[in-house]
Amino acid sequence: MAAAGALSSLRRCGKLRWNMPPFINSCMRQPSFFKSSKSEALPNLTSEGVTCAPLQTFTEEEIMIKEMVKKFAHERVLPLVQKMDADAKMDDSVVQGLFEQGLMGIDLDPKYGGTGFSFFSTILVVEELAKVDPSVSLMCELQNTLTNKLFTTYGTEEQKQTYLPRLAKDMMGSFCLSEPGSGSDAFSLKTRAEKKGDYYIISGSKMWISFAEHAGVFLVMANANPSAGYKGITCFIVDRNTEGLHVGKKEDKLGIRATSTCPVTFENVKVPVTNVLGQVGQGYKYAIGMLNTGRIGIAAQMLGLAQGCFDHTIPYTKERSQFGKSTFDFQGMQHQIAQVAVQIEAARLLTYNAARLAESGRPFIKESSMAKYYAAEVATLTTSKCIEWMGGVGFTKDYPIEKYYRDCKIGTIYEGTSNIQLNTIAKCIAQEY
Ligand SMILES: Cc1cc2nc3c(=O)[nH]c(=O)nc-3n(C[C@H](O)[C@H](O)[C@H](O)COP(=O)(O)OP(=O)(O)OC[C@H]3O[C@@H](n4cnc5c(N)ncnc54)[C@H](O)[C@@H]3O)c2cc1C
Repeated sequence: MAAAGALSSLRRCGKLRWNMPPFINSCMRQPSFFKSSKSEALPNLTSEGVTCAPLQTFTEEEIMIKEMVKKFAHERVLPLVQKMDADAKMDDSVVQGLFEQGLMGIDLDPKYGGTGFSFFSTILVVEELAKVDPSVSLMCELQNTLTNKLFTTYGTEEQKQTYLPRLAKDMMGSFCLSEPGSGSDAFSLKTRAEKKGDYYIISGSKMWISFAEHAGVFLVMANANPSAGYKGITCFIVDRNTEGLHVGKKEDKLGIRATSTCPVTFENVKVPVTNVLGQVGQGYKYAIGMLNTGRIGIAAQMLGLAQGCFDHTIPYTKERSQFGKSTFDFQGMQHQIAQVAVQIEAARLLTYNAARLAESGRPFIKESSMAKYYAAEVATLTTSKCIEWMGGVGFTKDYPIEKYYRDCKIGTIYEGTSNIQLNTIAKCIAQEY
């Protein structure tokens, strides 16, 4: 199937959109009016005709993509999850499937080979994939919210034409910000870019670069004017086959093992000035901007992970019998389960709210950090509790629960640690008072 084929056909049937009268009319005919935690295509109209929809109100397009991805995840990803984790390697068929289904260019303009759906659709896709495998979910998340977004927001038309159709069809991108000496303090990076005529020479070492093993293009943050401090940071497009670019041995990780995470070094890598993405000296702004949006994606990954783990566990507690009744029927269990369910729901609302704010062009930085911080906390609590609720079997590799427990830890680290999210939230609060 051609890239974006499946989604394009969905798009054709899902023409009705949020806030449009025909959509509202069709939604009003739907029978399931007051089911609180299920998604509905059901906006509420105020007397002024303004739509005030619950956060879990989706457009028809969003419902369709969610269902399509759920099917894809169960049919094409689920059978491979355990093996990919054990081998620490993403199966090629999964990568190919993500491209074929149009999931690597979800909110990308169809003129660049994308699917042209909303940012919120991306968030739903990331959540659905993470229910089954957070590694696969990350592949889709990074491509859509960081790589594609950097090109679409700051690229020249020529850069867009060169890279975006490949990124939607068959090529991974990697985002290179972190270094051995600069993680949370990202803008103290040491990678340098020296201008020589029509070229820049890039030298330095990056660390923790996701999907570097697969990537065909690297978006590299390097300082082109160290005397200006972080205001010298510039984003460069570096093709994988450029001389002097070396991808190191991938890390042997606790979780999300099917993703590759590698050091990448740049030894006098020569790139033409036309490979600067956006403006010289604006890279720090681009990185902050992209990470603010990307954090909503990580929140969705953690949310899906928590929900997927919960969904595996609860049926077991209903089947497992001790003292003559199911373990679910003990009040001590029910209260814990209910508390975790509340927190998953709260994480969902924070995540969806941040995504809706972002796609409607309203301020969302505080909300994005809140969603990422909280969803990572909830994923940690949920997976830990699920192992306890399963008893001994939850501790074994015969069930997927221990994998969710390992996978969730990264949510408190990448795209800004939990402390860094709290710093951001506190900064926003300080400005409000
Ligand atoms: C699996 C994985 C994938 C990754 N993918 C990418 C990628 O694709 N591209 C990329 O560029 N990077 C990537 N990263 C890097 C990631 O973003 C960093 O690991 C992260 O920002 C934290 O940096 P650090 O590891 O150096 O920790 P440090 O910054 O050394 O932090 C250590 C501890 O100190 C705390 N701390 C630091 N500063 C403060 C502060 N000001 N206030 C309070 N506490 C503080 C932190 O919260 C943390 O608990 C990845 C990392 C991992 C593990």
